Amino acid sequence: HAKENGRNNYKFFEQDMNARAVQRQSIEACLRRALERQEFVLHYQPKINLHSGAIVGVEALIRWQHPQHGLLPPAQFVPIAEDCGLILPIGRWVLREACLQARAWQDAGLQPITVAVNTSAIEFRAKDFLENVRATLADTGLEPRYLELELTESVLMRDAASTDSMLHALAGLGVKLAIDDFGTGYSSLSYLKQFPIDTLKIDQSFVNQITSNPDDATIVSAVIGMGKSLRQSVIAEGVETAEQYAFLLGQQCDEGQGYYFGHPVAAEALATLLQTGISTTFPH
Ligand code: C2E
Ligand code: MG
Ligand code: MG
Ligand code: MG
Repeated sequence: HAKENGRNNYKFFEQDMNARAVQRQSIEACLRRALERQEFVLHYQPKINLHSGAIVGVEALIRWQHPQHGLLPPAQFVPIAEDCGLILPIGRWVLREACLQARAWQDAGLQPITVAVNTSAIEFRAKDFLENVRATLADTGLEPRYLELELTESVLMRDAASTDSMLHALAGLGVKLAIDDFGTGYSSLSYLKQFPIDTLKIDQSFVNQITSNPDDATIVSAVIGMGKSLRQSVIAEGVETAEQYAFLLGQQCDEGQGYYFGHPVAAEALATLLQTGISTTFPH
């Protein structure tokens, strides 16, 4: 009986696998079509200088404007795009769109701000990544210092030697480099010293409870201090309350990003924020 059951289970599992493979294939096909039909959009979330309240940059965050399902967050399609390789053309589109937008804001006479682009491991390891960044900057006319690439610790720590040379090549172009979700991965402090990193982005999971959990408060303070010592700027992600903002300011944190200052919004809405200042949502 057990044997028969096992076989049935196996058969069931196999069918399930097939169903899932089919579903995956159809999502891949949809993603490919979405790219062709230009259904992806970037939203932009402000990064704030905590001392002045000024918007110093934005993070570009991809969404999928799905004709039936509405606006889909990256968690619902970026991992699939990474698995099937479509993240490469999608990532190229994101980079180009973000650079074009930053350039368009400048051309419209708005204050120059940095645009940050999330870079997945597959993009970073692709043979043509460096050339793609260089060519995109040249094509769009965005000065390299206004582009920041956000990389996670897992991307950076995978192969230290090749990472180091790629980071130095990117820094040589003049683009800024940031470590995203800092504190959630396995950064080696010796690489942190050696890599040409401009910015540490403290992960929101630490910021979340800085006013209620003394351990999180200690970690955040320590990262701010370490960043300052290593001449890196430090930005706190996921700032949602006035209390968190006050704590960060008290710890001499330079920058913040989070719903307290502003949600990710479409390009037009971000332009309005740049014109009027963040003061509508952030009393300064
Ligand atoms: P991330 O790079 O760490 O981006 C920050 C995420 O936190 C964003 O979610 C943002 O909307 C959200 N967030 C911002 N402020 C707050 C806050 O105060 N509270 C809370 N709870 N959340 C906040 P989103 O847009 O859903 O993006 C999720 C992740 O998807 C990003 O995390 C990034 O890893 C990835 N992603 C987004 N856009 C791209 C892209 O163009 N390419 C790639 N490869 N990955 C992307
Ligand atoms: Mg990011
Ligand atoms: Mg992050
Ligand atoms: Mg994240």
